[in-house]
Amino acid sequence: IIKFDKVVKRFGDLTVLDALDFEVMRGEKVSIIGPSGSGKSTVLRILMTLEGIDGGLVTVGGEPLWHEPGPDGLRPASEAHLRKMRAQLGMVFQQFNLFPHMTVLRNITEAPVKVLGLSKADAKLRAEELLERVGLADQAQKYPHQLSGGQQQRVGIARALAMRPSILLFDEPTSALDPELVGEVLNVIGQLAEEHDLTMLLVTHEMRFAREISDRVCFFDQGQIREEGTPEELFSDPNEDRTREFLKAVL
Ligand code: ATP
Ligand code: MG
Repeated sequence: IIKFDKVVKRFGDLTVLDALDFEVMRGEKVSIIGPSGSGKSTVLRILMTLEGIDGGLVTVGGEPLWHEPGPDGLRPASEAHLRKMRAQLGMVFQQFNLFPHMTVLRNITEAPVKVLGLSKADAKLRAEELLERVGLADQAQKYPHQLSGGQQQRVGIARALAMRPSILLFDEPTSALDPELVGEVLNVIGQLAEEHDLTMLLVTHEMRFAREISDRVCFFDQGQIREEGTPEELFSDPNEDRTREFLKAVL
């Protein structure tokens, strides 16, 4: 459902993704681990169309993301194409990124109303269902600052789900949380991981969690996948020295 084909991404002189090949199948749960600066967030941001690419091809659901068919082959994607493609993905950020001046309910209904054209009543029903699911049914009228970090992040997850994406991206969803709040967020993500049809791509430092929920784990290093495999293979018996070193430092 996701394919990076020799994707190059640069920031000035810095090559962040160096001809990256990377593929995720429909329904697959994939964790990305790796050192700081290895390009993990960049991969998610490219998929969310928050960053462009400098070479190669990204496809989502079989269609090019950053390109569209033109008279002479592929040309750079129009804003309309990007918008259409973006609707297939939802993202949960490290820093929650909720709208501070909106209630929890409004945070969740805003995009479905504005982007999908849902009626306010339908969007509210959908939001209430999702709040129930993330254990926040009684918090709908609060503002983000009145919630704990763990609660805010669960709102962030509900907000992403409200768009009914087929692919859900998580960028270190628990890194900004106090340790005692990590569990409640991982529980919600763990439940989502049970959903057969949902494709999940998770950047995380929670190695135990990654091991539990992933079908596959990718070790990123210097803009490349240095090693990938089942959690069992990668965590218990890594082939590469670089992977071993990294795991020794973080486990
Ligand atoms: P971390 O574990 O610290 O979150 P990461 O693997 O997510 O790291 P990225 O955020 O993808 O790393 O960044 C990869 C490299 O690109 C880093 O060296 C970073 O400084 C650089 N970078 C990212 N975004 C920008 C930007 N907008 N402008 C310039 N450089 C950037
Ligand atoms: Mg990052």
